[in-house]
Amino acid sequence: MRQTLPFILNGQAISPGQQGRVFLPITRLYNNTPLDLEVIIEHGRYTGPTLLVTAAIHGDELNGVEICRRLLQRQLAAKLHGTLLIVPVVNQLGFIQQSRYLPDRRDLNRCFPGSARGALGSRMAAQIRERLLSQADYAIDLHTGAIHRSNLPQIRVDIDDPEGMRLAQLFNPPLILNAPLREGSFRASSVHSDTPMIVYEAGEALRFDPKSIRTGERGIRQVMVGLNMLPKRSHRSPKVKPVIATRSSWLRSESDGLLLNHAALGQYLSQGETVATIASPFVQGQVQQLKAKFDGIVIGLNHLPVVNEGDAILHIAELNGDPETQSRAASIQADFDDPNEYFPPIGDNSIT
Ligand SMILES: [Zn+2]
Repeated sequence: MRQTLPFILNGQAISPGQQGRVFLPITRLYNNTPLDLEVIIEHGRYTGPTLLVTAAIHGDELNGVEICRRLLQRQLAAKLHGTLLIVPVVNQLGFIQQSRYLPDRRDLNRCFPGSARGALGSRMAAQIRERLLSQADYAIDLHTGAIHRSNLPQIRVDIDDPEGMRLAQLFNPPLILNAPLREGSFRASSVHSDTPMIVYEAGEALRFDPKSIRTGERGIRQVMVGLNMLPKRSHRSPKVKPVIATRSSWLRSESDGLLLNHAALGQYLSQGETVATIASPFVQGQVQQLKAKFDGIVIGLNHLPVVNEGDAILHIAELNGDPETQSRAASIQADFDDPNEYFPPIGDNSIT
């Protein structure tokens, strides 16, 4: 095992085996307050890859912020091979406002690759890409569903990309969804910088979901074990392999009214099954039943009980109905029905 050199970021050196903090200046607010990107670095004693973990690029997506906090609580530097770069809050401005967006209503995750002469989001994107992503061999970007919508814990990746797929399999979420690259996204820019990146989607904006947080934190550690950054003994081999879905679509309401959802996250649906009812609170008998258009598993759910025509109700990943897929889907649902899910007290590291 080779000892490593100090890790340098923005001219600041972090010694091997230490945790350090670097503040990358991003901009100044109009009240002259500096706005920095805070990067926490776990720099291992021994050589190995650099993994970048980012959260809250959408400022209201909070599960990832807690995942980062739990990773840091483990103080991994002492046993780490390589370096872990953690940015708990990428979009500081949105985080303060409890908003997905930047103050000019731009989506930071559509501003990449960015430019030093562009709008604020574009400048932020350029700095994140040039100063952080360029230092990483691998990256994991943490997200949640939008406000009022929750996602089943899932990894989104181009399933034809072998390196991305390797990371996804190591993460071992309940479901891996093939996701084409979105222009302007952080993940799209990672392709150009040749840094394999996966996106973890779990839970709902402005909410903590213990299952999503636990699955995410464990997934990142499993990736680190698979990349030989952490010793194998801290890792238990997973019992269930993820379901892999090549495509998905939202089932939308055909009328307006009150939404009665009959399906749960992780539930396996058969084509033609009734999954939701939209009923008018004013016109008696005006009831529409929504049925699944194909066999699949519920990976996203609208929780808002009032809907307009065209609103997205259920996000369903299309699956073939073979018995193995059905049994895996059933185990995902059983796992999500676990009534014993809880938040352990801070400082309790027994959670795995
Ligand atoms: Zn997001």
